[in-house]
Amino acid sequence: MAGFSREDLFGGINFEDIFGGLNFDFGGGSPFEGFFRQRRTGPRRGENIEVEVFVSLERIATGGEEKIRLNRPASCPACHGTGAKAGTAPLKCKTCDGTGRLTRSRRDDKEHVLIQQITVCPDCHGQGSTIEHPCPECQGRGKVALEESLTVKIPQGADEGMALRIPGKGMPSPEAGGVNGDLFVIVYSRRDPRFERAGSDLLRLETIPLTDAVLGATLDVPTLDGSVSVTVPPGTQPDAVLRVKGKGLPAFGGAHHGDLYLRIGVRVPERLSRQERELYEQLRALGGKPH
Ligand SMILES: [Zn+2]
Ligand SMILES: [Zn+2]
Repeated sequence: MAGFSREDLFGGINFEDIFGGLNFDFGGGSPFEGFFRQRRTGPRRGENIEVEVFVSLERIATGGEEKIRLNRPASCPACHGTGAKAGTAPLKCKTCDGTGRLTRSRRDDKEHVLIQQITVCPDCHGQGSTIEHPCPECQGRGKVALEESLTVKIPQGADEGMALRIPGKGMPSPEAGGVNGDLFVIVYSRRDPRFERAGSDLLRLETIPLTDAVLGATLDVPTLDGSVSVTVPPGTQPDAVLRVKGKGLPAFGGAHHGDLYLRIGVRVPERLSRQERELYEQLRALGGKPH
């Protein structure tokens, strides 16, 4: 093994560049350690996070900006994520000499192989450094809770559960100098007492008096942009569905526009005046048979 050099193994690549200034040293010239290290091209990236945002149906219909608040851990500004008190620096871990891992090797003389076992350093948990004077702002954790207000652009007709990716707004890297993960904003439509959303269609229950169901009527029905006049034909049955074309949501991507569906409920009177009772009695006397 002793015959290998950096140049032999990697053709003279500048390791400082690749490993971003990590304390990289071949030392005894073990290629195993070289390959192990090569997988890491810098400090680990922070994790991605998800937040849910509930927006009005009007916002889904028009698209546009929506403000969201989120609490996420951020790199501590006082110590720049190192966890060490200002003016001090983390100390190189003595146990692992700053490498973050321990390498034990033994030679199996019978098989003529070198066996290497690499473990994470138990003293610094793989960080390669220990903190003597913790940062008072973050108690040495290197992270603080940060409340942030972000403006996200909701696409017109955004589907239920659609994820919007915001690069760099995720968790900070667990290591100083690493890049943040991404934030995924999951868009949902807010509950609306007027409508239920079904894809790009809207559903609404409209309850009308029995007389309107029998004789027909004109209803003033709310929509996302005002109201429309809807004709209920005479003889409309309970649970009949009327379609109001084009009064749903635009589909994401603008392929089509959804409709508004009205399910008709019929209110049967529970109390009758004397006159009403007489009229219903007369209707019953007519037999209710087909004419
Ligand atoms: Zn700090
Ligand atoms: Zn260590």
